[in-house]
This record gives sequence, C-alpha cells and structure tokens, in this order.
Amino acid sequence: MPNKKDIVIKGVAASPGIAIGKVFLLENDDICLIHKEIPENARKDEKKRLNDAIEKTKAELKITHDKINNVLGKNYAQIADVHLLILEDPTIRKDVDKLIDDGVNVEYAIFKIIDKIVRSFETIEDDYFRERKLDIQDVGKKIIGNLLGKQRKTLANSNEDSIVVAHNLTPGDTVTIKEKLVKGFATDIGGKTSHTAIVAQGLAIPAVAGLKVISSQVEADDIIIVDGNKGEVILNPSPETLVKYKKEYNVQFAIRKKLEKLKDLPAETIDNHKVLIFANIDNPDEVQTVLDSGATGIGLYRTEFMYFNRNTMPSEEEHFEKYSKVTEAMSPYPTIIRTIDLGGDKLTKMGLLNMEREANPFLGLRAIRLCLKYPDIFINQLRGILKASAYGKIRLMYPMISTLTELHEANKILEKVKQDLKKENIKFDEEMDVGSMIEVPSAAMIIDAIAKEVDFVSIGTNDLIQYTLAVDRVNENVASLYDPLHPTILRFIKHIIDESHKAGIGVGMCGEMASDPYYAPILLGFGLDEFSVASAQIPKIKRVIRSISFKNVQEVAEEILKCGDRDSISKIISTIQIQ
Ligand code: PEP
Ligand code: MG
Repeated sequence: MPNKKDIVIKGVAASPGIAIGKVFLLENDDICLIHKEIPENARKDEKKRLNDAIEKTKAELKITHDKINNVLGKNYAQIADVHLLILEDPTIRKDVDKLIDDGVNVEYAIFKIIDKIVRSFETIEDDYFRERKLDIQDVGKKIIGNLLGKQRKTLANSNEDSIVVAHNLTPGDTVTIKEKLVKGFATDIGGKTSHTAIVAQGLAIPAVAGLKVISSQVEADDIIIVDGNKGEVILNPSPETLVKYKKEYNVQFAIRKKLEKLKDLPAETIDNHKVLIFANIDNPDEVQTVLDSGATGIGLYRTEFMYFNRNTMPSEEEHFEKYSKVTEAMSPYPTIIRTIDLGGDKLTKMGLLNMEREANPFLGLRAIRLCLKYPDIFINQLRGILKASAYGKIRLMYPMISTLTELHEANKILEKVKQDLKKENIKFDEEMDVGSMIEVPSAAMIIDAIAKEVDFVSIGTNDLIQYTLAVDRVNENVASLYDPLHPTILRFIKHIIDESHKAGIGVGMCGEMASDPYYAPILLGFGLDEFSVASAQIPKIKRVIRSISFKNVQEVAEEILKCGDRDSISKIISTIQIQ
C-alpha cells in the first residue's frame, strides 16, 4: 500500500460540515483540438469516421428527444429536434467534407466550420437568433465527443457517494447536485456567497470553493475530505486523518440531531424578545424541508432558479403552479416571492437575454433592471404570482432596487397586471404586500424614502457587501476582503432597520449573514425582525437566539457602532453573554 501523507489545500469555506468520499471529477467543458495533416489515402476513412460519429450523435439525440417528450412534453422536445436539424444540415456537411478533402483531420474540420458559423451568428443583432449559436456549439461538441470516443461526464453520472470536484459549478449545476444528493463539492473558483455556495448551504452539503487548481490535482475515485468548516480539503488522507475526520463527522452529526429538537420552540431570547425565523428556498420541492425545520415562513424564494438548465421561458402557468404549490403548503405562514434576479452569476442561456456579453454582469442588466427592460418576462411572472396569491399568503419582493424610480416603474406594471386580472375575473389577493430588497448602497442611503412606499424590506447582505466594499462575491482572490463586520456594513444595517421602523414597517435579512450564528446576536441587537436563512441553519440560529439576552445584545450593538475597525468589533462580540 503506498504511503499515505495528507495533502491539505486551503480555499474558501463555502458551506459548513465535513464530507468524506470518492472524487467525481467534472471535466472542463472545452475540448482541446489539434490540427493534423491526413494523407490522401486515409481521407476516405476520415469521412467514414465522420459518418459514424454523426449516426451515433443522431441516435443519442433521438433518445434525448424521447426522454424530454415523456417528461416535459412535445414543446420542450423541440430542442432536440433543432439539434437534429443542425446535424443534418447539408451545407455544414459539405464544408466539413471539403476541409477533409484538403487533408484536415475530421475533429479539427468540424471545430473550424462550427467556429466560423458561431462567429457569423455573433454579428446578428437580434438577441434570440444570436444566442442560437449555443445550439450549434452543442451539436459540434457532441459530434467531436463521439469522434474522440469520449463523452463529457456530467453531473447526472454522480451519486450519493460522490464528492464533486470541478473547475467551477454554475447555479444550474447545483440543481443537479441537489437531485443526486452528492456528499460534498470542491471547486477551483468561487466565494462564500456565490449562488453555487448558497445552494450548497441550503442543502447542508459541505463545500469548499476557491481552491485554485484542485480539479487538476485529483483523479477520479481518489479519496478526499472536504472540510467546509475550515475551508480546506485533504487529499490522499492518511488512515489517522481519516479516523480523526470520521470522529468529527459523527460529533457534528450528533450535535445536529440535538439541535433539531429546538424545532418547535420559539425564536425568543431569555428576556422574551421574539423574532421570526424564515427560510430561503430556490425550488418548490424544498417546502417540506422548510416546514420540518421549524421555519414560520419563507423569507426569500429565489424564483430565477426556474430559468436554469433550459432553453425556453417558463410559461405563466408554470409560474402559477410553482408558486401556488409553495404558498398552499406554507399556509397560513407567509411566502416572500422575489421576482426574478437573473444576471450577475445567475446567467441563463435563454435566447432573449444577452447577459453573457456583459463585461461586468453584477453591475449590469440584472434583476429588476432586466425585468423593466423586458416587461413581458416580468408581466408573465407577476400574473403567475398574483394568481397564486389566492391560495395563501404571498408577499411580493423586488430585487436590486437602486432608485425610487425603479420601484415606481415596477409598481406601475404590477398595478396594470392587477387591472388586467380584474377584467378577466381572475381572483387574487388585492392586499398583497409589496416589499423591496435593500442590497445596493444607493437604496440603503434612501431607505427613509423607500420605506414609506413599501410594506416591508429585506436586507440582501450578499450584494450589499459586494457593492459597498467593491468586492466581487464570487472571486476567491478577494474573499478575505468580503467582510460582513466591516463598520460600514454594520452601520448600513442599523440605518436600514431604524429608518424602516420609523416608517412602521418590519425588516428582514435574507443574505447569508443572517444564516451565520456568529452574527445573530449583533443583528438581534440592531433590532432585526426576521432572519431568513438556509433551512439547515435554522436550529443553530435559534439556539443562539434562545441563549442570549436582548438587553445585553442591544448594549453590545450600540458599542459596536462606535468602532471604526473590524478587530475592535470582534473583541466586543466576544463579550456577549451566552447562557
Ligand atoms: C443578497 O444579495 O443578499 C440576496 C439574498 O440575494 P442573492 O444572494 O440572490 O443575490
Ligand atoms: Mg442579491
């Protein structure tokens, strides 16, 4: 047996917990191709290889078509039909054949022709048609994959014992991770509040991001330990390390079980100050987990996740079905549905959206900006939300409001949708609360004005920190600067809470800061009314709240606001009395 010696690699703690398992290596999507000269007498064979690869790809596409047809219906299956049409396109075939006749190897010939077509698509003005280049690229990759005799391993091949290791995972990938119930993941890039990390926290899947080169350091089936608490992974663990981590895993499992007993107890301090504990979700299937966790509402439903891993827009009916399912199940508790927040690190390949081209997508056409630019998408969703509001208590929330004008424009569209529904005799909750996320510094500074025009606000610290401190939330190189305890952030939070209370409205927090038990006492001391957190974190937050005195944390919070640096702040936090 080879000598085992731990190789410890440090990254960013993306989701807490410990996972031990076998590496499932997700390869990079890009296929590296080289140009080879094919002698004249071998060119016929080269064309035969092309024919075989095309036939194989056709057969695979037909299977995909039937699968989609069975699960999602005819309309969605058309995606596979489009790919089949591209595959059979005589012009593409003629151009590839010509290159082979000139002595170019078939893989490179396909790559060249597809690349030429893609480039010509990039000049098309119309967003929808321009984005069809992705279909062409996809077909090209499939044929080349078959020529090279290997298909890219996808997350669909992972299983419950896997630790997924990848260069990067998109939020869309994590939806598959969720279905596959993998044990943990480790990525080269990413930070704590990337949406991939957030999904992992919601699922209680330990994860470490920002490991730089992990995906090229491991091989499939290597044993790996993911320590999401410390933000490190251990490759090649020695038997002693494995025993140590298995013990730690068991201890944490036992603590979790113990904490679950708090489920039905109120989130109340020892001197009887009560707060609300809500949950964040991104998928209707999470409702049962939310109810099991003891949450008394959903404080953030990230509806944009519905747009991932697909090529067509969700219909109004689909919006309605998803929202009514959640709302009905949560009733009588409220569900805060946030209108889509696409953009930033939540890009979608949907034809209409050209966000992939933005140099700074987090500062670009994201969230409410996108909805106001493409009102049809917005209206479609608003109709679904309003219709579902007849089935339970929905509160509507706009993301990324940065000016009062945006709020007015969004409300104007909402009003028009309500009028339309009335004319159509469709029932909805006419008193539905409308709120705004406060996650952009400009909104935090005019909170007094915003608070007068909404029924509630929710602080999105993930973005508020990124935009205030000028720190990209998904960039591991600046992860150490991403600090919820920066005095500016704490003063913003206090200001938002005080001004909202003056206007008579409640304040929630749905950013990840609310999910971390370390910050809970300060947030409570500032007067936060509602913590909306990943379901898996609820017991930990509740335990902290139930162990402290409101009076004590109010005093501590006051002291903290006088500090100008992080070190003095953490020193004061350490004086909080925990019972
Ligand atoms: C936030 O910014 O804190 C937030 C909750 O929204 P998201 O993480 O989806 O951007
Ligand atoms: Mg946000």
